[in-house]
Amino acid sequence: MTSKASNSVLTLLDPYINQSTLRSLFILSIIFIHRSFERKVDLAQMASTGEKGLIVSFGEMLIDFVPTASGVSLAESPGFVKAPGGAPANVAIAVSRLGGRAAFVGKLGDDEFGHMLAGILRENGVEDKGINFDKGARTALAFVTLRADGDREFMFYRNPSADMLLRPDELNLELIRSAKVFHYGSISLITEPCRSAHLKAMEVAKEAGALLSYDPNLREPLWPSTEEAKTQIMSIWDKAEIIKVSDVELEFLTGNKTIDDESAMSLWHPNLKLLLVTLGEKGCRYYTKNFHGSVDAFDVNAVDTTGAGDSFIGAFLSQIVDDHSVLEEEERLRKALRFANAVGAITTTKRGAIPALPTDCEAHCFLKDK
Ligand code: ADP
Repeated sequence: MTSKASNSVLTLLDPYINQSTLRSLFILSIIFIHRSFERKVDLAQMASTGEKGLIVSFGEMLIDFVPTASGVSLAESPGFVKAPGGAPANVAIAVSRLGGRAAFVGKLGDDEFGHMLAGILRENGVEDKGINFDKGARTALAFVTLRADGDREFMFYRNPSADMLLRPDELNLELIRSAKVFHYGSISLITEPCRSAHLKAMEVAKEAGALLSYDPNLREPLWPSTEEAKTQIMSIWDKAEIIKVSDVELEFLTGNKTIDDESAMSLWHPNLKLLLVTLGEKGCRYYTKNFHGSVDAFDVNAVDTTGAGDSFIGAFLSQIVDDHSVLEEEERLRKALRFANAVGAITTTKRGAIPALPTDCEAHCFLKDK
């Protein structure tokens, strides 16, 4: 409705609504009706243009510094190369590379690395309206090495880093409300204020009707203690409708060394629609209320498994975002998981996470040959 039309209605009703509060209420309701109409038109246009549903991924994005020499300790390394990472950011890029619509919500340092990471998201087609920049804290860094004795060594620069400082009032709620799927991990639960921002974003997404997807992505060295990690990871367990854990996480959370159906089902909760357990080169298992089973992995020459789990879940979400009924039909679910296994496998064939994420075309070509 135009403002001219609403003004003439107001003139007609003037004797009855001459108090300024009533007048404002009237104008607000006209604006509300107008916006709802616009939104309906938007949704109808989206359906007719075949635009895909939005997957919003919440959490951290950081830079991994990887030694230029292999099998050395951090102290011995002659140099390091930058590798952008952070599981939720990897998931957003995985979705976008596969032709889906993705947005990232999180906080970066207002520094060269932060703007570099935001640029990587944009270059990959990820919506950046949910990214905040912190003027005081730096973008998180992680130095990671695999020593000759097989032990992984970590050194984090998070004292605190910008991602940990995301506040609830900084969230782009409009973006979060437009998500069809809202995906998150557990690193954002470690400290305040980010923990409160995480909980609020989850609540807002849920209220707006998004499907909640949780991949805890356990990083033990980041938590003050093992017990704290377990407690906090489980504190939001019963909110999610899709949960993906790796075999290592299943063992960590259940305390059971045997990876079997019984152990997996001990993590089941009544709101859950799908529990996924990924098993590296052995593929994945799936559990729903009515059926369960496994889908084999693809045989590839794996050189670096970094990001395999992120690309797996990103690929899976991109298959179900516009039709959640896939979760209830076993054959369609198995097909979506086969696609996710293919994307996970391809990601292991190249070094690094983001550079290895395949396009939709690459994933389909890979599957055609199988
Ligand atoms: P995470 O990275 O979370 O630990 P996984 O290592 O289990 O997760 O990998 C996720 C998925 O990626 C697996 O379910 C599988 O489909 C695929 N994948 C991982 N490693 C391999 C591999 N070596 N060969 C083939 N596929 C793999």
